[in-house]
Amino acid sequence: MSIVRVAIPVPIPQLFDYTSDHAVATDLGRCVRVRFGSRIETGVIVDLPASSDIADSRLRPVEQILRDTPAMSADWLDLTRFVARYYHAPIGEVMALALPPELRRATTVDIRDDDPLLALTPAGHTALAEAGRPSRARRQLAALAEAGPTRKSVARQWPDGSATADLLRRRWVYPAAPSNPALTPTPLPTLTDEQAVVLEAIDSADAGFLPVLLQGVTGAGKTEVYLRLAERALAAGRTVLLLVPEIALTPQLETRVTERFPHARIVALHSGAGDMARSRGFLRALEGDADIVLGTRLAVFTPLPRLGLIIVDEEHDPSYKQQEGVRYSARDVAVWRAHHQGVPIVLGTATPSLESWRHAAEGRYRHLRLTRRAVATALPTVRLIDTRRARLDNGLSKPLVEAIAQRLARREQSLIFLNRRGFAPVLACPSCDWVSACPHCAANRVVHLTDRRLRCHHCGFDSPIPIACPECGEQDLQPLGRGTQKLETHLAERFPEARVLRVDRDVARSRSDWLALLAKIHAGEADILVGTQMMAKGHDFERLTLVGVVGADAALYASDFRAPERLFQQLMQVGGRAGRSHLPGEVLIQTEFADHPLFQCLKRQDADGYARLALDERRQAGFPPFTFQAMLGADAPQLEEAIAFLQRARDDALSDLPAALMLYDAVPMRMHRLARRERAQLLIESTERAALQQFLGRWMPRLYRLPAGRELRWRIDVDPLDV
Ligand code: ADP
Ligand code: ZN
Ligand code: ZN
Repeated sequence: MSIVRVAIPVPIPQLFDYTSDHAVATDLGRCVRVRFGSRIETGVIVDLPASSDIADSRLRPVEQILRDTPAMSADWLDLTRFVARYYHAPIGEVMALALPPELRRATTVDIRDDDPLLALTPAGHTALAEAGRPSRARRQLAALAEAGPTRKSVARQWPDGSATADLLRRRWVYPAAPSNPALTPTPLPTLTDEQAVVLEAIDSADAGFLPVLLQGVTGAGKTEVYLRLAERALAAGRTVLLLVPEIALTPQLETRVTERFPHARIVALHSGAGDMARSRGFLRALEGDADIVLGTRLAVFTPLPRLGLIIVDEEHDPSYKQQEGVRYSARDVAVWRAHHQGVPIVLGTATPSLESWRHAAEGRYRHLRLTRRAVATALPTVRLIDTRRARLDNGLSKPLVEAIAQRLARREQSLIFLNRRGFAPVLACPSCDWVSACPHCAANRVVHLTDRRLRCHHCGFDSPIPIACPECGEQDLQPLGRGTQKLETHLAERFPEARVLRVDRDVARSRSDWLALLAKIHAGEADILVGTQMMAKGHDFERLTLVGVVGADAALYASDFRAPERLFQQLMQVGGRAGRSHLPGEVLIQTEFADHPLFQCLKRQDADGYARLALDERRQAGFPPFTFQAMLGADAPQLEEAIAFLQRARDDALSDLPAALMLYDAVPMRMHRLARRERAQLLIESTERAALQQFLGRWMPRLYRLPAGRELRWRIDVDPLDV
């Protein structure tokens, strides 16, 4: 009989010992069914220790070791252990997160590919050429012809995806085996000089760990660099992990990769894929049957033997950070993984996160740049419209209205970009520069209408909402960013001849809604788009030449110190949407703060200038990346209960707080009410990452023992994005 140590997905930060009569050394990393309380759970065998601290008589036998499924690799065990350690999450929960759903359920997964690439047959090409009666099938066929060989699961989610089976039945398309010679790779573009320099610098079949920040303006050809690097890795017999922030927003990337590597075994892992498809992809990767894994956040946990390269596209994107459960950052985990496995990692972006930019500036990452667009189109021009001087008509200035009218006359498209992120209502004076700053923090206080107070979400300081400006006496104090919600209606009224289309999460709830909207825009069925951050990413619209930005100021003075960074990233990105083909683009930004350095950097498209400036501010304010934070969050039906728990946690922390650490007060969260629960937070800060980590290591076990009501939930968030 031997001891089997198991990680089980329960919110308890420990491993559990069982016995087995048959366990052998190769079972390390295998999934196992065990009895836990009255339930049967699937866990992972993480150790086969010689003895247990628990008496043999009290140990239960395992139910079943799942030997149909290969064991998780040592690398994978190391990776999940690191995540558990760094994010102070129970190891069993981390492993459950990292395992695909069907493995967690211990279902047998058949890894044969039932998600083939679809390609047009000669009959399909003929059908396409005939001017037949328009039908779903024909529209789907045309979409497939345009997209090139596409996974069935992907094609099925297109607007006419329901016709996919029909196409197969009519033999207009056929399932191409991944190594089908009928698919020929697309011809390679000649590299630009800048691309060649970048590739030279990363030339490293075996350079070991090499972190690269690849900073390139939109359209500079970063994706082309990724593809060339992937090609090299594949040629050397290595595998590639390619992470993207939201695959739902970038359906073209998978097609681009598939077209470039028609013979490669590509596994796409994203939320759009079903549980079985995800599980199959994971297992294929684990068994060495995948060359390229392409996926969102969670794909960072895909086991990949012979891993040779990691790419994180849009590394600055906040969606790499999981905001619930195990709160890991896929980008940071990817960097750790590259380091652990001694391979290069490329972090690509037009607007680096301040964290990465600082690493690059201080020499920890290699900083490589693409400063010009690959195809000779100029970057858009950026113009600021000072709305203190201009009169607004329903939130729109005259220059913006005129610019839209010009586009309409020229049959070009306009995008009006509404900034909704960071929409915490900060109070501002329209007559002077006063905003509701906190006297104790570098943050601004937020308007709470329910109790009519201005509250700092950093230190908790609050006071009644003033009736007049404390600086100049102006009585018309207003929360920043009002009046943008009704924009769609105003635009429709102002331009009755135009087709106005709103594009945000509300109208594009599912991936297929989104693809349908995209098709509409591409087909030129909209003149004015009104959109939120969804519109900012990765799409090229031929005729889109104007981007108007309204409501940006709220983020400038938001209480969230990261809001300006996000604003800059978003506006650079959304600006990059203007004029990507042969037509020149223009960006107009309405603001009351036209002299603000952020907008000045934007005008020059100067990401470095902005990074320097923002880092200076962060240094002075003592914010990340110059300090390291962890946030203890609690929620309960009543705010008092959440606060009381955090106060107990705080008292406990104070008994053992090192000098390098700073403990704030327990305060309600900015979004303090969510899903009928009240949320509060306790922020811990340190100038040294190690000191914070050590403290958390001691404090966390004590937190599990603190008295807490049945309805109370708490969690720790290391490197929180949203404080
Ligand atoms: P990014 O990812 O930096 O926004 P992409 O890689 O998507 O840029 O490239 C932008 C456009 O330029 C794409 O249409 C791409 O096909 C094209 N492109 C990239 N590199 C080259 C090149 N070396 N020669 C010609 N076209 C290129
Ligand atoms: Zn404060
Ligand atoms: Zn004032």
